[in-house]
Amino acid sequence: MIKSLPQHTSMAQFPVCNNTLLIGGIALNRLAQRVGSTPFYAYDRQLMSQRVLDVRAAMPADLKIHYAMKANPMPAVVQHMANIVDGLDLASAGEMKVALDTTMAAGNISMAGPGKRSQELSQAIAAGITLNIESFHELETIAQLSEKTGIQAHVSVRINPAFELKASGMKMSGGAKPFGIDEEQLPAVLQRIKTLALDFKGFHIYSGSQNLNAEAISEAQQKSIALAITLAAHCPTPLKKLNIGGGYGIPYFPGDTPLNIRQVGDALTDAMLYLKAEQPQTEVIIELGRYLVGEAGVYVCQIIDKKVSRGQTFLVVDGGLHHHLAASGNFGQVLRKNYPVAIGNKMAVTEREIVTIVGSLCTPLDIVADKMELPIAEIGDFVVVYQSGAYGYTASPTQFLNQPVCAEVLV
Ligand SMILES: *Cc1c(COP(=O)(O)O)cnc(C)c1O
Repeated sequence: MIKSLPQHTSMAQFPVCNNTLLIGGIALNRLAQRVGSTPFYAYDRQLMSQRVLDVRAAMPADLKIHYAMKANPMPAVVQHMANIVDGLDLASAGEMKVALDTTMAAGNISMAGPGKRSQELSQAIAAGITLNIESFHELETIAQLSEKTGIQAHVSVRINPAFELKASGMKMSGGAKPFGIDEEQLPAVLQRIKTLALDFKGFHIYSGSQNLNAEAISEAQQKSIALAITLAAHCPTPLKKLNIGGGYGIPYFPGDTPLNIRQVGDALTDAMLYLKAEQPQTEVIIELGRYLVGEAGVYVCQIIDKKVSRGQTFLVVDGGLHHHLAASGNFGQVLRKNYPVAIGNKMAVTEREIVTIVGSLCTPLDIVADKMELPIAEIGDFVVVYQSGAYGYTASPTQFLNQPVCAEVLV
């Protein structure tokens, strides 16, 4: 029998059967046997597919949805995403290799990031992907490499706009930023591009991450489109592509309300009509990482010790911040809050106690859950951290304290 349980131990996207969490339809203990060891990350492909469908349903029909690989670059995940999105966005040669191993056409792959090395740039030029130019120096390097190799480079200019994405977990635009080229410098950059033999595609404007506020996102999207229209007058060719970023967030903590993507989609539909009147040929793109995969993943570890210290109960697990830095509160958070956590093989147990779950690292930073009320758990039980499909394993300091590595599976 499948039923859902109270909010604090169960997230609606993963059902429960016989006291046990199901991941991709597989009982957690059986999945753990299949993987062969804990800890591991498990990602549910069905949830990712459903999420892409939900985004498509809410957004304008002609909007292109790209997957930002940084959120979860596991090759199997990227293969899956490549089949269901319109493009991939990446930020290193390592990610580029994974992207090019998929069936995604190079014309729908773009590369951003400050500090792209010459080697990476020439690989990207040879691959035929679009380079989002982030500085004057980078522009000159791309032009030289393109000339040297005789391969025309496809380029967009990443703009650091004057505005910022309000109410955002991580701001990446407005003011002085290492990302992109300041809006004020765009006429000069575009002037220079006109003199070079580059294939100019358009603009990339990425203003922030982890935003749950539909109005703030819509405002940034409208401003991005307005800015592109203004700058189009300086462009060597009509705008072919306009990547307006993303930043769609997911709820992690009590009190977080899910983003209203219908509202974002409705406002974007209006803004895109406005663009169409000015630049009818422009393809508009959003790039989403966390929103597409974050809620589809869990981190699973096993309890290896239980102890009481001066009245406080600690569960010690075989994983920790070396696999999941974000859940420990050390990945950009200002105040530490608990990620949603469950005891995956005791989903229906009603006797509860307040526990602090810590990882196996010899540092007070290694907290999985701080003073959380959970079903009474014992050594051997499974601790599950939800909302772990994005910025998990690859965003963690895996070498720290030289602990064992962790498995990742797509189910
Ligand atoms: C990090 C990043 C993304 C993905 O951000 P999410 O919050 O995971 O959606 C997309 N584009 C760029 C340029 C980024 O730096």
